[in-house]
Amino acid sequence: MAILPINCQCGHQIGREDIQQVTLSLINEKPLFVHVIYRCPACHRLGSKRIAPDQWQEAVAQMSRQRPSDDLPPIDTDEVIDFCQAIENLSPRDLEALRREVSAE
Ligand SMILES: [Zn+2]
Repeated sequence: MAILPINCQCGHQIGREDIQQVTLSLINEKPLFVHVIYRCPACHRLGSKRIAPDQWQEAVAQMSRQRPSDDLPPIDTDEVIDFCQAIENLSPRDLEALRREVSAE
């Protein structure tokens, strides 16, 4: 089970497989917080939590360490920022193409 600093209102520990969406909030290109939206597998409620970027990075690093067969390095904050900026630069047409590609998998 992934170790995230998130517990549902019902007390259930949220794992990475329960995450629905992750958004990074920036101020002057500095990460302010990571907003995680999850669905609890125990009570099925949607919940959200803001996590400090450092805490999120540590959680991602822990999740990566739990998969020894996966030799990719953990995703760091800079990569998350790059990813968010790349998404912001997508046109509506690109987004629609991406949505189709993801839903086809
Ligand atoms: Zn719950």
